[in-house]
Parts: sequence; structure tokens; C-alpha cells
Amino acid sequence: MINQPLFKKVAFIGLGLIGSSLARVIKQQQLASHIVASTRSKKTLDAALQMGLIEAGFQDPVEAVQDADLIVLALPVRATEQVLARIRPYVAQDAIITDVGSTKGNVVAAAKAVYGDDLPAGFVPGHPIAGAEHTGVHAGRVDLFAQHKVILTPLSTSADWAVEKLSQLWQAAEADVICMDVNKHDEVLAHTSHLPHLMAFNLVEQLANREDNLDIFRYAAGGFRDFSRIAASDPHMWHDIFFANKPAILKAIDGFEAQLAIFRQLIEDEDSQALMGRLGHAQAARQHFNHMLANKPLMENTKVTQQFRISPGAHNFQGKFSVPGDKSVSHRSIMFGAIAEGTTQVTGFLEGEDALATLQAFRDMGVAIEGPKNGEVTIHGVGMHGLKAPASALYMGNSGTSMRLLSGMLAAQQFDSVMTGDASLSKRPMERIAKPLRLMGAQIQSTGERGTPPLSISANAGLKGIHYDLPMASAQVKSGLLLAGLWADGETSITEPEPTRDHTERMLRAFGYDVKTEGNRISLQGGGKLTATHIQVPSDISSAAFFMVGATICENADVTLEAVGINPTRTGIIEILKQMGADLTVFNERIAGGEPIADIRIRATRTLKGIHIPEDQVPLAIDEFPALFIAAACAEGQTVLTGAAELRVKESDRIQVMADGLQAMGIQCTPTEDGIIIEGQGKAGDWSTVFNGAEIESHHDHRIAMSFSIAGLRSHGEIIINGTETVATSFPTFTALTQQAGFNIQVIE
Ligand code: NAP
Repeated sequence: MINQPLFKKVAFIGLGLIGSSLARVIKQQQLASHIVASTRSKKTLDAALQMGLIEAGFQDPVEAVQDADLIVLALPVRATEQVLARIRPYVAQDAIITDVGSTKGNVVAAAKAVYGDDLPAGFVPGHPIAGAEHTGVHAGRVDLFAQHKVILTPLSTSADWAVEKLSQLWQAAEADVICMDVNKHDEVLAHTSHLPHLMAFNLVEQLANREDNLDIFRYAAGGFRDFSRIAASDPHMWHDIFFANKPAILKAIDGFEAQLAIFRQLIEDEDSQALMGRLGHAQAARQHFNHMLANKPLMENTKVTQQFRISPGAHNFQGKFSVPGDKSVSHRSIMFGAIAEGTTQVTGFLEGEDALATLQAFRDMGVAIEGPKNGEVTIHGVGMHGLKAPASALYMGNSGTSMRLLSGMLAAQQFDSVMTGDASLSKRPMERIAKPLRLMGAQIQSTGERGTPPLSISANAGLKGIHYDLPMASAQVKSGLLLAGLWADGETSITEPEPTRDHTERMLRAFGYDVKTEGNRISLQGGGKLTATHIQVPSDISSAAFFMVGATICENADVTLEAVGINPTRTGIIEILKQMGADLTVFNERIAGGEPIADIRIRATRTLKGIHIPEDQVPLAIDEFPALFIAAACAEGQTVLTGAAELRVKESDRIQVMADGLQAMGIQCTPTEDGIIIEGQGKAGDWSTVFNGAEIESHHDHRIAMSFSIAGLRSHGEIIINGTETVATSFPTFTALTQQAGFNIQVIE
């Protein structure tokens, strides 16, 4: 409720669906001292008076606008000029004049026909993107605009105060107010509203004209009903809109016809792959844009959007579990499958947001990709020279891997491209990959401040192979350079200061590309080709880590994790847990898609002991330390971690954030510059609880959130973890699997 009314007197010219809905909001919230209206018919005015919507009604708009400080034109757009001309001499100097018309260019043209270029400062056109099939004063609803958009199209003559006051009015109606240029409005609406309405009218008209129309409508399925719903809208209004926005609508129709012709041809030619590609692209684009527009604060450190509540203990933590696929391998399976010759089948694909961003990028570059469905993806490779220029910037979401690896691939293409990301990715450094790519002849610019995204990459005239000494250990930079090297002239070689993850090298070999590794020097020759293959994405050892630690610290647990990736650059967690005395067996070792995988059995461990973690294991377990800290807290004796300063610059400062959480749960620990000292609370053979219940801030770091969830197995009070929505980025099935394992975990949105 607003105490001081926003307006003294509001005059509606036209009081149908839209006008009367806004009048209802103004009335309910007491936003004006007086509301009056003018319509053509007395009947409408009488009805509005009777409903108590207005205090006075006039058939002549001149009488309505006297002394009004807000005039709302809520009538058919074609009547605008005539009404404005009539009321002009009677409008107060500082009155706000707005409208609700569905097209804006012609409203502005009408105003100019009346006022010339000297438009009143209070003139601010608007358009609520909300409606209903029924019109008239009785159809109005007070909540019509709630959670809908209202577009204001201020002109250069519009005063800020008028825009501000109108925004307040629409916000009071719970609408989301945005400002837009008039032409942009008409162009956008032509595509998103006017064309769909025309298509709905067109389809119904097409079917109604058939001889068997009765049957057609009688047996119409849900799809037809959904699609044709908007053809029930007011024909007068749409007649007006189609004429009012003629140029933009004609353009939209042309685009539609061209696209439809493509679909027609694909069906006629029975081009299954291309048809699948386009359908898949459309479906994915819809999800992708919905997600982008939902504007989830994924990695933003501001708003808590989700919470886990974990009650102590678990029942039945036994049996076989498959944790989701490895993220690094999932990314690469799409990238390499896309540029391979032939069709690549991927199983175990991680359907997390980062890998989906990579998948969408390749669809945007014309690659036909089916899925993902239950972790299965089929990629119809286009070969080394088959990628097409994307129609707009490639959106990488939160995924640094996608952006850095794709930099290498895009730098070698014959088209320009731009890559953008979310707020968090937009702060990450890209020069570390851009710089060596430039040495290869790439034209690549990080256009953000201080070498951050967006990345702008120009069509390449021919890359040349180089040797590069990596200044820092980075699998992403190494991979980006190797990928650029596929198209480069001659040999591309890299030496790394210490070994980093070698998923790129392994998978390139699985696709039949020769990559040499000699000590810490990796090299390949440009100009070869990749041959499609089957990629089984291993279960992600980083996700498996939570179940390994969980089973170790939980009485009677006996868990087998299937097909876990045991790439030697990633197995630090296994080695460290073994050194702590964990009952852990690795068996059934095999190779899949170039990667070593195995099943891992972990049983409740009676005598878990604290250790000084060997520094040579640190890089091999870098992502698993949050989970290992939970194991350390449950072990007997002290655990000391050193040489792990990198943990402080991950998605959060994982040393500090884990220390804060552990201390909140009553665990004694001391964070150090490059590690932590944790005083384990466990005793051999004793399964009593070690953690107090607490409320923990995960700082939107998925691994922190999952680690503290595991602590629930040995806590004697409820653990609340804030900011858990990021768990979906790496482990979308985490809560489902932990619930299956008998954890008492509740998700609060
Ligand atoms: P509506 O329910 O049919 O109401 C139109 C109102 O305008 C009626 O009160 C009518 O008077 C009055 N009117 C018509 N011609 C007039 C004239 N020449 N002079 C004075 N008053 C006149 O229409 P609506 O759905 O509210 O639409 C109004 C505006 O909103 C249109 O410009 C439309 O483009 C826009 N809009 C509509 C929707 C939607 O879904 N309906 C959505 C967004 C925007 P009587 O009552 O006497 O007939």
C-alpha cells in the first residue's frame, strides 16, 4: 500500500480489458485520488461506475482529461491520433500521457502528427505484454500484469520523471518494467507476438477451410489446442496490429517462409540427420534461452536460492551407485565428435549446465546433435572444415573449460566468432590462452576489462604450429593450444611445468589422432583428421569422492561405485584415503574412450587415521579436498595439508570456507596459507557422532555444499547448507542418489 497517492487524477481513454485492469490496480492500491474514464459507449461507462472502478465517466474525452496528471490511452491504436488531436488543448502542461498499444511506431507517428516534433515531456508510450482472449470492461483483472513484462518506449523528448513515475505505476501492478527503443519494440514483437498470432490464425483458417473440417477439429490433439489458443483473440485488434506493424511483420513472415521451406525440403529429401539437427537445435535453444533468461544467479555470491537440510544419519548406505559422468570428458566428447568424420555415440554424458553450454555452442555452429537423453548423445560430425559461422555470440554460461578450449578451435576457423559468459565467467582471465594463440597467428581479443570475456575471434588466415612453454600448469590452456594445433601448419608442442590432466591427449588418440607425449612435452602435427568413435564417459571421480568419503565414515556402509574414471592425474583421493586406512578396493580396471576406468568398493572403515597428506598427491586430488576434510574430521588424530594454496582461488576460498564450516560444527581446525590442520574427532571402532548441527554457508560452491551434506552421516544435529543450487553444475543427481542411499536430505527452494 502506498500512503501518498502517485497521481491526483487518472483519466483513461478507453476502458476495456487493458484499461480496466490497470484501473483495478490503481483503485485497489489507492494509487490515485480520482479515476475517470472516457469511452465511446455509455454502457461501458455505466458498468465501470457500477463496479466502482471510476468516479465519473464521459463520452467526450475532453471532459475526462481536464486537470488529469496521468492520461492512459487504452483504446485501439488506430484511434490514437484522433483522440490526441481532440484532447491536446485541454491536457495539463505537466501531465503524463501514456498508452498501452501493442505497436509503438504508429503511436509515436500519431503523436507527431498532432504535436509535430515538439512532443510533450510527459509523453511516454508503453505496452504491457499481457492479455487475454476476452476483451471489454468486464474482462479486466487486477492481476493481469503481475509477473508480466511492461515495455516502456521513452523518446528523446520524454522526461525522466515521467518514465520513473510510470515505472512505479506498473511495478505496483507487479509487472517487470523494461525500457526499449520504439523500432526495436516493433521488430521484437513482430517476431515474438505478431507472427505467432498470425500463424495461429493461419493454421485454424487452413483447417477450417477443409471439407473434412468437422473431423479435423473433433479429433484435434492437445498440440493443436495449445498452438491455436491465441487464434481466439480479438480479430479487430489483430487486424489493426498487422497493418500497424506492417514492415516488421512482413520481414518476420519472410523469415518464417524461408525456414519452413528448409523444413519442407528436409522432409521431402528424407534428410534424417539434418532434420534431427534442426529439431534438436530448436528444442535445445528453447531450454537454453529459458534458462538464460530465468537469470539464475548461478555463481553470483548474492542471493541464496536453494538450501539443503540434512538430518543426522542414513539408513541402508549399501549397494551399487553410478555417479554422473566426468565433466572434462563430457566437454571433449562433444567438441571432438563435432569435428570428427562420422557419427560419434556418447554414453554417460554429464547433463550439467557447463557441458550443455558446449553442446549448444556446437549446435549453433551447425552440428546435428541428438540428445542428451539419459546421458546418451549422438553427434553427427561435420569434419575438420564443416563448422559453420554461428548466427550470434556463443554463450558459454559459467564454463571456463568451454571458453578456453573453444578459443583454440575457433581461432582456426574461417569465420568470425564471439564468446560470452555469465557474470562469473566474465571475470575470469582469458589472456593466458589468447596470448599463445596469437603467437600461432590467431586474431583473438578479450574485449572485457583486463583480458576478460567476451572473446572476439576473427576468421583465420592460417595458423602455424609453435612450441610453447606453459608458464603455469593448466590443462585448459594446454588443450586449447593442442586443439588449435589440429588446424595449424606443422607441429604444435607444449611443455608443462608439472603434469596436468591429460583428457585431451587421450581422447584425441581415441578419435585416431596421433598425439605424442614425451616426458612433459606434448606434441601433434596439424592437418590430420578425427574419426568418429564411441565414447563412454567415465563416472566423475570428483563426484564419486563424496560417496567414497561418505561410505568410509558411515557405520555398516558397503558401496560399489561403477565405471569411475581413474585417470592417473585424478586419483589422489584414492591414494590419500588408502593412506588414512580406508577400506577401499579398485577392481575391474579397463579402458573406455581412451580413459582408464574401474569399479571401486568402499566399506565403513573402523580405523580411519589422520595423516600428513603427501604433497605429490595434492595436484592429483585438488578438487576432492573439501570431501577429504570431512574424512579427516572423522579420523583419529591430526591431518595436515600443505602445498595446496590453489584451493584458495577455486569457486570459493575452499580452505577458509571449509574451516569456517568445520568450526561451526565443533571441529577444531587451523587454516594455513597453503593448507589446513584438522584435529580428527574419531576413535577406532567408535561410530558415535563427531559433528554438531549447524547452518553452513557454501558460498555457492558446489563441492563445499556436497561435502557438508556428507557430514550429516556423523552429525547429531541438523545441518543446513545455504546456496546449494550450484550442485547441479557438476552433480545434477546428487540429491536423488543420496536419498537413494538413505541420507535424510531435504531440498528447500
Ligand atoms: P478492448 O477491451 O476492446 O477495449 C477497448 C476500449 O477502447 C473500449 O473501452 C472501447 O470503448 C474504447 N474505444 C474503442 N475505440 C475508441 C475510440 N475511437 N475512441 C474512444 N474509445 C474507444 O481492448 P483492449 O484489449 O483493452 O485493448 C486496448 C489496447 O490495448 C489496444 O491498443 C491493444 O493493442 C492493447 N493491448 C491489448 C492486449 C490484449 O491482449 N487485449 C494486450 C496488450 C495490449 P467501448 O467500451 O465504448 O467500446
